[in-house]
Amino acid sequence: MNIFEIYKKLIFPEGKVKILLGILIITLLTFGYFIVLLTGGTAFAYLHILYVPIIFSGLIFSVHGGVFAGLIAGIFMSPLLQVNFSENTFSQPFSSWSFRMVIFILVGAIAGAGSSVFRAYIRELELKQTTDPLTRLPNLNGLIKSFTSFIQKTQKALIVIVVELDRMNEIDRAMGEERTDALIVQVAENLKSSVKDFGILGRLQSNRFAILVPNEENVPEILKECTALSEKAYHIGNIPLFVEMRFGVSRYPLDEKDLNNLIRVASIAINATKEQAQRISYFNKQKSDSSERNLLILHQLKKAIEEGSLLLEYQPKVYIQTGKVMGFEALVRWNDPILGPINPEDFIPLTEETLLINAFTKWLLEASLLQMHKWNKGGLLVPISINFSMKNLHDPSVIENLNFLIEKYRIPPPCVEIEVTETSVAANISETIKVLKKLREIGTRVTVDDFGTGQASQQYLFELPINVIKIDKMFVQSISHNPAAAAIVKNAISLGHDLHLEVVAEGVETRNQQELLKEWGCDIGQGYFYGKSLKEKEATAWLKKMLDTKD
Ligand code: C2E
Ligand code: CA
Ligand code: CA
Repeated sequence: MNIFEIYKKLIFPEGKVKILLGILIITLLTFGYFIVLLTGGTAFAYLHILYVPIIFSGLIFSVHGGVFAGLIAGIFMSPLLQVNFSENTFSQPFSSWSFRMVIFILVGAIAGAGSSVFRAYIRELELKQTTDPLTRLPNLNGLIKSFTSFIQKTQKALIVIVVELDRMNEIDRAMGEERTDALIVQVAENLKSSVKDFGILGRLQSNRFAILVPNEENVPEILKECTALSEKAYHIGNIPLFVEMRFGVSRYPLDEKDLNNLIRVASIAINATKEQAQRISYFNKQKSDSSERNLLILHQLKKAIEEGSLLLEYQPKVYIQTGKVMGFEALVRWNDPILGPINPEDFIPLTEETLLINAFTKWLLEASLLQMHKWNKGGLLVPISINFSMKNLHDPSVIENLNFLIEKYRIPPPCVEIEVTETSVAANISETIKVLKKLREIGTRVTVDDFGTGQASQQYLFELPINVIKIDKMFVQSISHNPAAAAIVKNAISLGHDLHLEVVAEGVETRNQQELLKEWGCDIGQGYFYGKSLKEKEATAWLKKMLDTKD
């Protein structure tokens, strides 16, 4: 308890504290009586000690407390006491002790009145601190106060519902602040009558409210009543308006232990309603943990790019008919000191949602072209395919950068192959065609990766300025035992050839698969059968060995 709380306990005493303070005042009055008795009588200044309990009583128990203590003190100092014991002076005249009593009572009353004014002022301040001025509902401080006293008293579970009004900014811009405020007051009133006394409604910020519900059984009823409000039209300046609401729910103590955090996680749940096109969502800790992990991944990845701790590995691609080296596919590898090794499939899609994809691609292009440059200098000219993500296709600076690096490292452009997935091509076909054309202008080759998984682009295949299709490993891996997969792969090979495209099969794992692909005329194979992705040194050694033995 801090000093302010002690002080508040004194000026707003309750229960036991009140009784103790009452006893203290009576004790002080009695003590004052004996002091006067022992110091010679009412003629001496020691009598003024009685003002202490009188004022004290006024301060604590208001006017009636002050008057009461003044009266008692007046009675104590009445003819019960002599004026001067040593001189054995006669008892006091009536006018003297009664006048003194009136003064005592007056002082007590003034102290009491002063303290009442002060207390009212403090109450007003506190109310301001804990109340939203517009709706007169509790604000966050007010809710925290109710939450804390509920938890202290009952230690039971409690539900927090955060309510968010949709489109409030839009309404505010269109209607102006005054009318928006009027709307919020109406919404608050409706919410309050929906919550009834099942919970405590408070206002958080402009468009957000919170409801504390002590009894979980009442939550469905409250949510039902509140969601029904979305159907209600509000008339603001004769314009009928609907206010859509979203609800996020969190649970004490399951999700979080304090109100600020319960509100925070309920707000996370509100965001989930937007993704799922729902109105109500309960906070899901597992989901939130995974989004926290995702944030951590992005944070660590940024560091890894800056520190240069990402690596590329190179997976061999081999001409199926001759067994000769065709080139490598560059695949990113990341072993984070905190998170451990992370699959590219786990972090690349996340990266695509942020600007980090730009930094990542910049790194990827620099690293792969630098590697080609190194091999080139050592007389090992070998094509490398680089995976582009969907976002890269629509960023002109990526292509400029690629062009710049090709010139900087003097790489023959056809040795650079850009892999774009079939689904990303299909997402925006006319835009993609433009970008792919630019890549072709630079002279690089373009591969449609994961061919077969995104049907949509096949109908545009003849329009796409591409050089290669790479049949997805999902089909290739099944050709030995699944006739349907075999038919798809055979068809893809002949389709590719009809369109004058090279055909790569990825995910070749067995000799049998390799034999079938060879028989069907597939051009290039890639997969564990030929080799897993290799680190720079191993890739160099593999390349040298292959070139030596085959040439
Ligand atoms: P992808 O482009 O389809 O890459 C092929 C994936 O299949 C690689 O997984 C590779 O290791 C794996 N693989 C190769 N041969 C076989 C095989 O015979 N059997 C099986 N089961 N798997 C095989 P990885 O390296 O985990 O990459 C996964 C995906 O991550 C890639 O799929 C690609 O979409 C993406 N990715 C990887 N590196 C990069 C990159 O540098 N940039 C971008 N944008 N995406 C990348
Ligand atoms: Ca690929
Ligand atoms: Ca693939």
